[in-house]
Amino acid sequence: MTKYYLFTIIFLLSSGLLEGQQSALITSKYFPDPPVEFGTPTLSIKENRFATYEEIMTWIDRNISHERNASVRIIGTTPGGREIPVIYLSNGSAGPKIRVWMQGLLHGNEPAGGEALLFLAREILTGETGKNYLDNMDIAILPVANFDGYLAMDRRSAAGFDLNRDQTKFADPVSKIIKKAFIDWNADIAFDFHEFQPTRREYSTVGNKGASISYDVLFLLSGYMNIPSGLRRASGEIFQKEAEQVLDAHGYTHNFYFTTDVSGDEIVLNKGAQSPHSSSTSYALANAVSMLVETRGIGLGRTSFKRRTYSVYLVADSFLKSALKHKEELLETIAEARAETISGGGDVTVINEPAVCQSSVNFIDIETGDLITLNLKTKDAENMSPELVRPRPYAYVLEPGCAREAEILALLGLRVEELRHKKKLRAESYVITDYQESSTEWEGIRQASVTAETYSGSRVFPKGSFYIDLRQKNANYAVSLLEPEAVNGFVAYRVSLTSMGDTLKIHRITRK
Ligand SMILES: [Zn+2]
Repeated sequence: MTKYYLFTIIFLLSSGLLEGQQSALITSKYFPDPPVEFGTPTLSIKENRFATYEEIMTWIDRNISHERNASVRIIGTTPGGREIPVIYLSNGSAGPKIRVWMQGLLHGNEPAGGEALLFLAREILTGETGKNYLDNMDIAILPVANFDGYLAMDRRSAAGFDLNRDQTKFADPVSKIIKKAFIDWNADIAFDFHEFQPTRREYSTVGNKGASISYDVLFLLSGYMNIPSGLRRASGEIFQKEAEQVLDAHGYTHNFYFTTDVSGDEIVLNKGAQSPHSSSTSYALANAVSMLVETRGIGLGRTSFKRRTYSVYLVADSFLKSALKHKEELLETIAEARAETISGGGDVTVINEPAVCQSSVNFIDIETGDLITLNLKTKDAENMSPELVRPRPYAYVLEPGCAREAEILALLGLRVEELRHKKKLRAESYVITDYQESSTEWEGIRQASVTAETYSGSRVFPKGSFYIDLRQKNANYAVSLLEPEAVNGFVAYRVSLTSMGDTLKIHRITRK
C-alpha cells in the first residue's frame, strides 16, 4: 500500500497536480493582486495563514456590530461549538425593498467568499454607495456558513457532510440552521459564493504537464424547470450579464461554471445547475432569483487571495447595483413568479434533461503558461427539456409515518397541516414499478432510483396524516421532493423508504 501511495504521489508531483499552489509565472501573468487595502480578518494578517474563529468574531464585533444600520444575530452553533453569525444590514426606512441573501464558505476550503462578504458589509456601512443600497434593500450576509470546515480547511462539515449537497435530506444540523435563517429572511434574491479547484485530474492529458482553468470567476445558473422561468431569466440576463461587464472593466476573466466528465479520451463539460440539494437551485425554489458564483481558489492557499477576494467583492457589489438598477422590474418578476406558484403553477417537471452543445473554454498550460482554448462537448443544464412531467396536484397527503418528510417541508417554509381526524379523499397514489439501490454509499446512504405509476381512488387518511396544500409560495420545494423519481427527492435520498411493488406513503390530491 505504502509503495502504491508513494508511486501515486510521485506521479502527481511529476504531472504537476500536487503543485496546487500556482507557479509564480502563472500568478504574475494572469492573477496579479489588485492594489486594494481590505482590512478584513485574513488580509490583515501578515503571516501565511487564515484568520481564526476568534479573529473573525472579534473583527465582526469591532467593525460591524456597533454600526447603526447593522445587527448581528447568532443563528445557531456548529457541532464544533462555533457560533454562526448572520449580519443584517437595514436602515429601517419604508419599502418596498429588495430582500437580499448572500453567503460564503459553505465549503470550508473556499475562503474568498467569506472574506469578500465581510469587506462588502463594511463597505455598505461606511462607503458612499451604502446609503443608496440601504434605502432600497435589506441585506442579510452569512459570511462563514461552515465554520468547522473552514477552520479545518476542509470542504465538508464537522459531521462529514457536503453542505451544498444536503439541502433536501438535511443530514447535517448546520444545514438546518442555515436553511431556517434563509427561509425566515424570505429573500427576493440570493447568492452563494464558492471557489473552484483550478487544476483537476481530468485535465492531466491537456499539454505535457496538465492544464489549469484560466478564469477568475465562473457563474452557475440553475436551469431546473420547477423554478419559474422569469426568475431563471433574471439571474442570467440581469445579474450575470452585468457582473460580467464589471469584471471585464477590471480585467478579470469569467465564464460559466462547469464540472467535467471524461468518457474515453473525450472531456465533457456539465454546465448549469439542476439539483435541488444545492443552493443555486434550492434558493430559487423559494421563489427567489438565485445564483452560485465560483472564484478560482481551491488548493491555492493564500496565493492570489487579494485578487480572489476582490473578484468576489466586485461580483457581489455588482449584484447589489443590478438589484438597485432593476428594482421595479425585479420586484414585479418575483411577484409574478410567486403569484403563479400560489395559483397552482404549471406542470411538475419530475425529470429534466440538459441540451447538448459545444463550448469554448480556456485553460492554462501548466508547463508553458500559455493559454489553450478547447472546444468541448457540453451538457447544458441552463437549457433543459422535460423528460418526465406530471400535472401539478392541488395538494399532497403524507401518511402519519412520514414525520421526517413533514419536518423537512416545514423547514423549507411550507405550511404542513396535520389531520386531526381521519379524512376520506380522492387521491392519486404511486406504486413502485422499478427499484434500484446504488451499490456504493454516499453521505451515509445508498441512493434509490425508482419508476412509479399512479392510480386513482378514494382513500381514508388516518388522523395524524400530513396535508400540504400547494397554494403557497414555497410549493415548488414540495413538487421537487415528493415525486418519487425526483433526482434529489425524498425517495432518492432514502428519507422516504420504499421497495419494489410498494404503494408509496405519499399521495397526490388532484382536485378539490
Ligand atoms: Zn464550493
